[in-house]
Amino acid sequence: MLDDKDRIFTNLYGMEDRSLKGAMARGAWDGTAGYIQQGRDWIVQQVKDSGLRGRGGAGFPTGLKWSFMPKESDGRPSYLVVNADESEPGTCKDREIMRHDPHTLIEGCLIAGFGMGANAGYIYIRGEFIREREALQIAIDEAYDAGLLGKNAAGSGWDFDLYLHHGAGAYICGEETALLESLEGRKGMPRMKPPFPAGVGLYGAPTTVNNVESIAVVPTILRRGADWFASFGRPNNHGTKLFGISGHVNNPCVVEEAMSISLEELLDKHCGGVRGGWKNLKAVIPGGSSVPLLPADIAKEAIMDFDWLREQQSGLGTAAVIVMDQSTDVIKAIWRLAKFYKHESCGQCTPCREGTGWMMRVMDRLVTGEAELEEIDMLLDVSKQVEGHTICALGDAAAWPIQGLIRHFRNEIEDRIKYQKTGRVSSIAAE
Ligand code: SF4
Repeated sequence: MLDDKDRIFTNLYGMEDRSLKGAMARGAWDGTAGYIQQGRDWIVQQVKDSGLRGRGGAGFPTGLKWSFMPKESDGRPSYLVVNADESEPGTCKDREIMRHDPHTLIEGCLIAGFGMGANAGYIYIRGEFIREREALQIAIDEAYDAGLLGKNAAGSGWDFDLYLHHGAGAYICGEETALLESLEGRKGMPRMKPPFPAGVGLYGAPTTVNNVESIAVVPTILRRGADWFASFGRPNNHGTKLFGISGHVNNPCVVEEAMSISLEELLDKHCGGVRGGWKNLKAVIPGGSSVPLLPADIAKEAIMDFDWLREQQSGLGTAAVIVMDQSTDVIKAIWRLAKFYKHESCGQCTPCREGTGWMMRVMDRLVTGEAELEEIDMLLDVSKQVEGHTICALGDAAAWPIQGLIRHFRNEIEDRIKYQKTGRVSSIAAE
């Protein structure tokens, strides 16, 4: 279990003072100018050495991403954009940072902005996060008043302005290029890549989009050293990580833990265990609604990091762990996600626009059992035609939960269809 002394977010639960004064007492903004004066390359190298991988879901190495930004300006400015849209069902970690520990993010923005040569940063916050927006804006205003943002920010010699922009509640605006479109005042529709944002991003200028947590951990990485951060987790999966656990556990919570913690330890130590005990576990979605679920036997062995979960054909995603016990109608749970993705599809590309609706309508029938057995493979086949054939990852996000369901719970789907036709409970279901 992670020691309290190794926690980056020391006010995650809002028990302490979240103002600048309180944040400084906890170590924020300490020596910021000194780190900046060590130079841009040094900062990027520290982040690379720490092994930090993006906390928004994709897990791309953060330092490497920063290094794609141009070293010399061709006349265009560079921008940092923070993705605070946090709309993935089950995910609720970034909002805890923004409402209770906002200065970790603001200081991170200044350091990251300098690291990528940006004099301006934009935080795009989810429209529904009203209290979080208020807390963050107060913190930004405090930072300006104290000279930590603006001209010669924090006495570093670097000018940095930070703007908070709130969205209007569309899930797709969490996709980085849709976010940029929305920030520019257009409909949030994903752009084709390439060009990537580091070449042509916000207002046509070089831009890096990072998740809130990825930016907020950077000041502590510099303060405590890249080696300290890299000492947690398995190779290639370093650092501490916020996990958000919801569903059928005794105490749902958001908690900072070491990467590569076992799921068993995570749930037992922090959540009071699975409701009704581990024997009562049915399935776990380990990383937010878009990653395939794991059945209980695999979940019991699970190591919560990028690589282990990918090897199980699932993913760490946003580390939003959704626990389902035996009382769950797992087919209906995945149907609900299919309905969500259908609703949130922006409609730009045909496989996603048509496929999400098609998959949801088949899922409608699987929930009631009023389907034919052949439709299971047909659904799997259509999900494969959606996956990887769309402009953005929403197509994959819609396909993967369904693929996971069929991979691990095909028996349950078949039993329901057979029961609907014959009225007989199969031997497996009756056990
Ligand atoms: Fe829009 Fe879906 Fe295509 Fe993404 S995959 S661009 S959400 S239609």
